[in-house]
Amino acid sequence: MIDVVIIGAGTAGLTAALYANRAGLKVLVIEKLMFGGQITNTPVIENYPAIPNVSGFDFVQTLYKQAITDFKTPIVYEEIKECDFDSDIKKITTNKNVYEAKTVIIAAGAEHRMLGCTGEKEYKGMGVSYCATCDGAFFRGKSVCVVGGGNTALQDAKYLSNHCEKVYLIHRRDTFRATKIEVESALKKENIIPVYDSVVEEIYGEKGQVHGVKVKNTKTSDVQDIKVDGVFVAVGLAPSSDKFDVLCDDSGYIVAGEDCKTNKKGVFVAGDIRTKKVRQLVTAAADGAVSAENALEYINK
Ligand SMILES: Cc1cc2nc3c(=O)[nH]c(=O)nc-3n(C[C@H](O)[C@H](O)[C@H](O)COP(=O)(O)OP(=O)(O)OC[C@H]3O[C@@H](n4cnc5c(N)ncnc54)[C@H](O)[C@@H]3O)c2cc1C
Repeated sequence: MIDVVIIGAGTAGLTAALYANRAGLKVLVIEKLMFGGQITNTPVIENYPAIPNVSGFDFVQTLYKQAITDFKTPIVYEEIKECDFDSDIKKITTNKNVYEAKTVIIAAGAEHRMLGCTGEKEYKGMGVSYCATCDGAFFRGKSVCVVGGGNTALQDAKYLSNHCEKVYLIHRRDTFRATKIEVESALKKENIIPVYDSVVEEIYGEKGQVHGVKVKNTKTSDVQDIKVDGVFVAVGLAPSSDKFDVLCDDSGYIVAGEDCKTNKKGVFVAGDIRTKKVRQLVTAAADGAVSAENALEYINK
């Protein structure tokens, strides 16, 4: 019998695996895509304690080795179909297998929020991107827009301004949500053009290529046509909690405190997917440790 199934191999899930292994538990990690999670494509992490400058890629490789390779931890790449957490033995059904375990740690993180406008789905991967560092180089010398007003949007705009001729920064309000330092450094760039009070209504193109966006001013209702070859969406994240029958808040985050305990006995939650104030690597790692220790305590009791 597996002691703990860990769902998600991002920072929280891998840290949970590290602690659970060190506690002598029998672990299985289930990941739906690739290990590493959201941080994998970030060029530089500057705020992880004692590791001042590391790429997201190197960070996850090191963590994977520490948590998975060194302990020979079983990891499967499967899609969760349904979970039954109501009995003492938890049942997790994937597209390939059914697993039973004494405890579960949900560490499925968060995914990019979509704009939901006309053309977004149609042109996804063909001009519409959710990762500037992954796809920015494809738009060298071209014009693009970034949609959003938080730190990620401003950082994306700055990154793209190094490759692209023009970067329109489309935000639905008249001030950005990002920190002052991010806003000031982005707006210093001559080829970043802010478009305030505006929402994207349509992404249009032809033959699988984006040609532009139709943008509506929220104050005047005027519609502006901006010609771009790429659209970078940076409007935040949504928790990947839809497969789990546990208590969530109105935004879909799994309700839990610092003890990482959900409303179901023996089911714990770690990382960005749970209700918390600060969603960062350091708090994801902390949750991974706490949830594994609490899983151990639950099993021992
Ligand atoms: C662009 C960007 C830059 C960032 N920069 C920083 C930074 O500099 N410093 C910092 O501290 N934080 C940064 N963050 C935040 C940080 O990445 C997150 O707080 C952290 O990755 C959360 O880790 P997690 O393990 O909870 O979730 P995630 O990293 O989201 O990992 C979740 C994992 O679960 C998998 N998964 C999802 N659903 C399922 C399912 N149903 N079944 C199985 N697996 C599933 C996913 O594929 C993923 O691998 C950044 C985030 C972004 C997007």
